[in-house]
Amino acid sequence: MNFKTGEIYNGFKLIEMKTVKEIDSLGLLFEHDKTGAKLYYITNDDTNKVFSISFRTPPKDSTGLPHILEHSVLCGSDKYPIKEPFVELIKGSLNTFLNAMTFPDKTMYPIASMNDKDFMNLMDVYLDAVFHPRIHTEKEIFLQEGWHYHLENVEDDIHYVGVVYNEMKGAFSNPEEVVGRKIQESLFPDTPYGKESGGDPEFITDLTYKDFIDFHKKYYHPSNSYIYLYGDGDVLEHLAYVNDEYLSKYEKIEIDSSIPLQKSFDEPRESVYHYPISEKESIEGKTFLTINFVTGTSLEPQTHLGLEILTHILLNSPSAPLKKALLEAQLGKDVSGSFDGGILQPVLSIMIKNSEESKKDALKDTVISTLQSLVENGLDKDQIKAAINITEFKLRESDYGSYPKGLMYGIAIMDSWLYDADPTMHLEYEQHISDIRDGLKDNYFEKLIQKYLLDNNHRSVLIVKPEQGLVDKHDEEVIQKLKKYKETLDEKDLQELVQQTKNLIKNQNTPDADEDIEKIPILPLEDISTESEELPLRVRKYEKNQMLYHPINTNGIVYADLLFNIKNVKTELIPYVALLARYLGEVSTGKYSFEQLTNEVEINTGGIDYDIDVYGDVNNLGVYNPKFIIKGRALTINLEKMFEIFQEVICNTKYDEKQRLKEIIQSSKARTEMIFMSVGHKIVANRVNSYYSNSAKFLELINGVDYYYFIKDLEANFETKFEEIFANLKQASELLFNKNDMIISLTCTEDDYSSFTEAFHGLYNGLTDNKIEENEFEFDLQKLNEGLMTSSKVQYVGKAYNIKKLDYDYNGVLQVLKSIVSTDYLWNKVRVQGGAYGAFFSIGRAGSLFIGSYRDPNLKITVDTINKISEYVENFTTSEREMSKYIIGTISNLDVPMTPYTKGNIATGNYLRNITHESIQKERNEILNCKVRDIVSTAKLLKDCLEQNYLCVLGNEKKIKGDKDLFENLVDLFE
Ligand SMILES: [Zn+2]
Repeated sequence: MNFKTGEIYNGFKLIEMKTVKEIDSLGLLFEHDKTGAKLYYITNDDTNKVFSISFRTPPKDSTGLPHILEHSVLCGSDKYPIKEPFVELIKGSLNTFLNAMTFPDKTMYPIASMNDKDFMNLMDVYLDAVFHPRIHTEKEIFLQEGWHYHLENVEDDIHYVGVVYNEMKGAFSNPEEVVGRKIQESLFPDTPYGKESGGDPEFITDLTYKDFIDFHKKYYHPSNSYIYLYGDGDVLEHLAYVNDEYLSKYEKIEIDSSIPLQKSFDEPRESVYHYPISEKESIEGKTFLTINFVTGTSLEPQTHLGLEILTHILLNSPSAPLKKALLEAQLGKDVSGSFDGGILQPVLSIMIKNSEESKKDALKDTVISTLQSLVENGLDKDQIKAAINITEFKLRESDYGSYPKGLMYGIAIMDSWLYDADPTMHLEYEQHISDIRDGLKDNYFEKLIQKYLLDNNHRSVLIVKPEQGLVDKHDEEVIQKLKKYKETLDEKDLQELVQQTKNLIKNQNTPDADEDIEKIPILPLEDISTESEELPLRVRKYEKNQMLYHPINTNGIVYADLLFNIKNVKTELIPYVALLARYLGEVSTGKYSFEQLTNEVEINTGGIDYDIDVYGDVNNLGVYNPKFIIKGRALTINLEKMFEIFQEVICNTKYDEKQRLKEIIQSSKARTEMIFMSVGHKIVANRVNSYYSNSAKFLELINGVDYYYFIKDLEANFETKFEEIFANLKQASELLFNKNDMIISLTCTEDDYSSFTEAFHGLYNGLTDNKIEENEFEFDLQKLNEGLMTSSKVQYVGKAYNIKKLDYDYNGVLQVLKSIVSTDYLWNKVRVQGGAYGAFFSIGRAGSLFIGSYRDPNLKITVDTINKISEYVENFTTSEREMSKYIIGTISNLDVPMTPYTKGNIATGNYLRNITHESIQKERNEILNCKVRDIVSTAKLLKDCLEQNYLCVLGNEKKIKGDKDLFENLVDLFE
């Protein structure tokens, strides 16, 4: 297709057209003639197509209006008048991405799919949702998703209930999240960025239905929209569709949604915010200190990229000089930097964890004096070179894990497009990287420091500190407020409120009409491929070692992973192996200082990681292979250098750098604590499995609660233990790094294979080769059924067991069961009715079953809900069409697009777990042929597993104590 600027294509005028060579694409900027809607199309040969529609939605207060609206428009529209079209799409489409996101200044609705028909279906449901939601006629949606006074009986106390209300209560009980949210408030007091677009629980209940509706009318209009399309789709067909079905029905209007600039400060500001911890927890060492700088605007792409690299140099590279200075000054236990470029006025932040308010002046002084001396003496040139190289490597590699590439580009273009500038400004990085490299002669980065950090008064110090009993205080305030409110209501008002509550509950419990559900388009099952993708795997030998080779086109990058057997190490040393993974690469070696080592890694490779994985054998219950993995990625020409670094780290790491060890232990402890707060469900899942499974117990020692106790002890007794710690780390490394049973996993093209063979030789010959007696780790497994108590406002509830322990077999039906239980039963009971942010049902091929909740206000109710799953399954019935939908949804969970490295990595994992392509194909067949009766027949399996009653809950102390009969042990997690 030959496009011409100025021409009109199906209602859209082509404004600009250009090749974006960095992503090998053609970019087409259109404007909708009739409404002024903006549309950007990135066309290329990527089959994973992306569509998104965004609106500029600056909040005027902190009620979370944009966020509540984001949830609500997905609760039914004119064309799709059901409660949750979003959930129906999760159930029954081939989407590779489906979500909605509220940002500080925009709301975005993206979808992705590799199937053309599916893509159009998803796009239609989303467009109808944003333009014709049912919120205007059904106030219940606002009450459910936002907030409402909940009163089931006249004599009860009134409560606030609402999906976003609960979600944000959870968000605000996580201090790290609070810090992130409050930084903008401290820097932008006069602009929308000073408001909380997600909603501060304290203000959410100020939001009225009228404001909510008016906001939609005002901002969700084509004239205020940004439509993005990406991939190998038919451009003209997509334009015609968007125009004919939606935009052509609107007229252009003037909408002022522009984002004003915050005037710079005359002098730096300071603010303090409190976060809750329990009465018993000590407040010592739990303060977060941050310094934040507003750095120009996001419309200066080179500076934007330069500041991103500078943040890495100063704060995030392992040997970053500012981080080093702050740690040496003992201002806190973990230091990190971030550059937030996703708003009009980007912010560079320095964050210190585990600190004290009293250290804030020392922090300011250290930051300023260190930066001054860096400007005077110049940054280390090798370090700059390293940072530029690693940034460029990552940009070229575009490995965003499970996120579609097109989605990430779609988010990046908003960083300029939303502010009326060139959409691809930030995608076209090549020239900027090259200019920045040239700028090195001219002290480019030192100038950035001078201008944006030292000579910049638009900055803030934000202190976020703990306060004992704050949760209770807040709760009490809310109780009093609601009590007072109740007193203002007369009998009639109360009756009305009870009626409203009852209607809401009834509404939630009433299923949608079948004919309405059927309006959501689904693909016929025949359109689903019956073949599962075979991942490339050649089992070869490298000398005497096993080599798992994955021939894939990787754009000139070689991914080489070395897997060492952890069973070579004694049981007592297992947690030290975990510490070793954090220690290697972070200290000096015989040849390199720690700083030089970091530079060598970043100049020559795309990164080297030290990781631990456990491969459970799917055919043999209880058999598992724990591996310590050194992962490297580099261009072919740098391979030899990369393996030299591997060798240096493996053979010559120093085990005597006391100060570094101390810092590593401290930051490891701080990070583990953060994991408890942010992804508690993962902690619970592994913990509950560890009551009966050796491999889960092993993982506990590597990164669970057990590891936390271990690292906490090392920190507390560091001075008396450090020599012992070094001795144990050294011993663990000597036992581990032994080529006797090492496995190589390699992902690259056949052409690069020979380069690998040559480059690897030196390292291979340098590795020791001892026959070591393998240990079968023996753990003392106990059914602990713990309540892990913290000050969190929400719970993470989990029950688990292994079906194979009860002699049930794994098959594909269980994956369909997973889709049904999680998107129907758990979604309704735990999320919609219970108010939890999420609920999970997972079943692994090795047989482990886990059911749990995420950010859950309840505890016992959720346990009961989980226990009743078998009843639900026993009585499960549905139409053939619905069943097809669950099957499609299940397949879409399996057929996720993968990056080259992910393919290689999964193929290696499958091999080590004994998962064959035949077994994957068999599972797929079972999924495609699954019938209602197959699902019903799993009820007994569920009942038997749940009756084993393996339970673990992480969450609020009071709540856990209130239901203490459920537990065998109550544990103060942070005591
Ligand atoms: Zn949300």
